[in-house]
Amino acid sequence: MERDNIETENIDPEFVDALVEAGADRIRTCIQCGTCSSVCPSGRRTAFRTRELMRKAVLGLKDEVLSSSDLWLCATCLTCLERCPRQIRTTDAIIIMRNMAVEEGYMLPPHRKTAKKLLQTGHAVPLDDANQEMRKELEMDEVPPTVHSHPDALDEVKRIMEKTGFKKLIEEEVEG
Ligand code: SF4
Ligand code: SF4
Repeated sequence: MERDNIETENIDPEFVDALVEAGADRIRTCIQCGTCSSVCPSGRRTAFRTRELMRKAVLGLKDEVLSSSDLWLCATCLTCLERCPRQIRTTDAIIIMRNMAVEEGYMLPPHRKTAKKLLQTGHAVPLDDANQEMRKELEMDEVPPTVHSHPDALDEVKRIMEKTGFKKLIEEEVEG
């Protein structure tokens, strides 16, 4: 981690308080031992480093953490959470940060696309000719008993997404 390059104006001291309040209650006790990074299956194949993420979070580098696509490389396998000598709920902390990222308007384009499909069709993966054909081969009903066969229910799905604020989240995008 490039600790010499941290600009103080990039530090939000309330970020770690918000993480603690949301459930990452022991995150401040991180000793930077690196156990989480060493056991992380995602880190073996990508540049994602759990230890670095925890450090940046504790330092209050909110924008850097929330805007980073690395935040989405965690597979939520829980291995780091089981191994952390400080019993920090690392995976929960990552999920909390992801929720915050989406609330701030940061969402990966494929996630936004999938969420929009859900809003438009009631399915993240809507029925198409290929999977309809496959259902037929498997001797299943060609159209599943979902909004595809109950189109009226789609209005209800849309209402739920509107009332819960999900629609607003997926429509709001940060610039740049
Ligand atoms: S394993 Fe726990 S204490 Fe060690 S670096 Fe990761 S979060 Fe910090
Ligand atoms: S929960 Fe995420 S960060 Fe932790 S070991 Fe698994 S993939 Fe890595």
